[in-house]
Amino acid sequence: MKALKAMKAPATTSLAPLWPPLAPAARSAQRERALTVLQAEIAGCRACQEAGYLAVAQPVARQRGLTGARVMIVGQAPGRLTVERGIMFGGPSGDALERWLQMAGFPAGALRRDVYLSALTRCDPGRSPKGHGDRKPSPAEVALCRPWLKRELEQVRPSVILLVGGMAIEAFIGRVKLEEAVGSVVERAGVALIPLPHPSGVSRWLNDPAHQRLLEQGLAQLARLRATWEAHPPDERHSPPPPGEGQG
Ligand code: SF4
Repeated sequence: MKALKAMKAPATTSLAPLWPPLAPAARSAQRERALTVLQAEIAGCRACQEAGYLAVAQPVARQRGLTGARVMIVGQAPGRLTVERGIMFGGPSGDALERWLQMAGFPAGALRRDVYLSALTRCDPGRSPKGHGDRKPSPAEVALCRPWLKRELEQVRPSVILLVGGMAIEAFIGRVKLEEAVGSVVERAGVALIPLPHPSGVSRWLNDPAHQRLLEQGLAQLARLRATWEAHPPDERHSPPPPGEGQG
């Protein structure tokens, strides 16, 4: 079988450092509460409105705590439907992500049940002034929102982060063409970063059959990691080494 490609990551990124995944034992009720408090803080944020970047800031933040979720998805920014429904990836993008997870072997419903969902910014930036799709959040908006994402990463500590779309990929891995990033996996501090295209129906990138194959390669990377978890249940994976091993 053809080996899946691994991409070499730049030495630093704006969202480094990442944190090694936590052992299940560390998923304490205290940390679940901390994440709930953090989500409430995000929901109350009006920084971009106060700075004049948004007419109205309406962050989408609340979801199940899921501290210690294996998989976290980071997208660009919520769209109108996501804000209306108050759930991350609440529009067609969520349906596409659910399909992609199933292609990687996850059971139906995994997106809303087992995966922590986040984005570079948490308010709808509105329509693009060019009239095509949503406006990309500006670097200033991303910078204002970055502390929220960093704090979520600290609390959730996923094993895998699916970076959906060019902006999320750039924030974690650096500027790289989608064709070069999708299909690869970058490991940092025990966390696997898997770049994927944005699942929005607006993106035409996936119309190219070669790009579809890259997406399938990326999902195969996720499936491979998932198979590893299945073969090594968390309790076994994180059990302490026998006396005399791993010390020293
Ligand atoms: S995009 Fe982020 S920083 Fe800006 S107002 Fe919304 S939650 Fe706050």
